[in-house]
Amino acid sequence: MFASISSAVLFGAEGHPVSVEVHVDKGLPAFSVVGLPDESVREARDRARAAVMSSGVSWPSQRITVSLAPSHGRKTGSGLDLAIAVGVLVASGNIPPESVEQLAFIGELGLDGSLRAVPGVAPMAGVLGESDLVVPIACAVEARLVALGRTRLIADLAELIAVLNGNAPWPEHQPDPAAPDPEPALDIADVRGQVVARGALEIAAAGAHHLLLVGPPGSGKTMLASRLRGLLPSLTRERALEVTMVYSAAGAGLPPSGLVRRPPFRSPHHTCSSAGLIGGGSQTVRPGEVSLAHCGVLFLDEIAEFGPKVLNGLREPLEEGSIQVNRSGMHTSLPAEFLLVAAMNPCPCGGGAPGACRCGDAALNRYVQRLSGPLLDRFDLRVNVDRPDVDDLLDNSAGESSAVVAERVARARDLALLRQGVVNSALGPNALDQFAPLEPSARLLLRHEMEHDRLSGRGYHRIRRVARTIADLRPVYPELVGEEDVALALRLRTSIGRALQIGRAA
Ligand SMILES: [Zn+2]
Repeated sequence: MFASISSAVLFGAEGHPVSVEVHVDKGLPAFSVVGLPDESVREARDRARAAVMSSGVSWPSQRITVSLAPSHGRKTGSGLDLAIAVGVLVASGNIPPESVEQLAFIGELGLDGSLRAVPGVAPMAGVLGESDLVVPIACAVEARLVALGRTRLIADLAELIAVLNGNAPWPEHQPDPAAPDPEPALDIADVRGQVVARGALEIAAAGAHHLLLVGPPGSGKTMLASRLRGLLPSLTRERALEVTMVYSAAGAGLPPSGLVRRPPFRSPHHTCSSAGLIGGGSQTVRPGEVSLAHCGVLFLDEIAEFGPKVLNGLREPLEEGSIQVNRSGMHTSLPAEFLLVAAMNPCPCGGGAPGACRCGDAALNRYVQRLSGPLLDRFDLRVNVDRPDVDDLLDNSAGESSAVVAERVARARDLALLRQGVVNSALGPNALDQFAPLEPSARLLLRHEMEHDRLSGRGYHRIRRVARTIADLRPVYPELVGEEDVALALRLRTSIGRALQIGRAA
């Protein structure tokens, strides 16, 4: 007998519908899967057989052929287990075919018949049309977020067999107690002193300018960077859905409401591999840190310690805002539009107190060169962070809270979007004269810097974008970008430690 069961597979952060066709026929007992299954799908046979037998039904001692349609495109993951088991049960006469007609199935089977969560249920549920979707209890939030049909939660295969045979109603499982709310964002009021760096964070948030923090260990670079997230506005529903799909595909846990509404903050360690940072992998295509940071912040602490090849991989997402993946004839695109914040010591020895550095110029040069010119050039803001003074640490008066700063950031962002449709960092060179016109004195200052070789052509455009953001953050926003705005933008790009001044003209 024959059965056709609806299911889906995950590729990158996209779901693809799959029809699991099962044929059970007389012949020597055998089990074969066709339609480009990978190893994890082939193992489904063992899991499905054990699960069926644990549910009190005998496994057919016949020839079983499973075909995964469409036949092109590699199928990966254990999410097809449930559909394969149900297909065998229908084709062997243990479940009536009409009971599965309007249903789709996603889930991994345990040997005892229990149903387990798989990554990517949200993007997979989104491609299954109006079928009712049968998923493990743990996938309730993800499935309900996007599924058009009803979501049926099932604890194990025996329960499902009883329902499909009409011996029991659909169970009313309650989803597991929701994951705890994400921690509240850290408040910038906790940072003592660091006026320049705090200002740079605000500008970075308002204009989406990439930020490099340079300072000795213990100067609070990480403390500052981790507070950037609290300054960014919540995601729009459309953006939140994009981020949620990536989180679901990565198996990275969703908030209780299902939607990831806060901008993500990711800080991979410098030992992170290329696949870990950029995504990919040889078998399953997994979103990397750059995609998990989509619409949020990617923080690379000790950026000079990351492998050069790993850092080189940042070029594509920084330019395109996405990662293109090709595997066995399939193509997908993983979103990766993030605000890059990096931190590094001023030199290999860590620097520290003025005059304490023992590094020679050659060592310094090598250290800076680990950050290739094109990558260094991406940072519109390069800020020196010094260890806070004792006075600052003892000062009990808190600075502005994140809520206050975030309000200014949101206003400046709205302003930019209304004026030009994009954040300031995305303004093209030709759009600058229209949307960021300069006062004559500001123009003179920039010309002066270029004539003295302190500013390159690329740097010129970057300074103008940052200056636009600085002007937008003023209480009354001026149409013309002023000399003070340009002067501050210049200082925020060049006032970094000795090491990085080697490349200050960039
Ligand atoms: Zn040093």
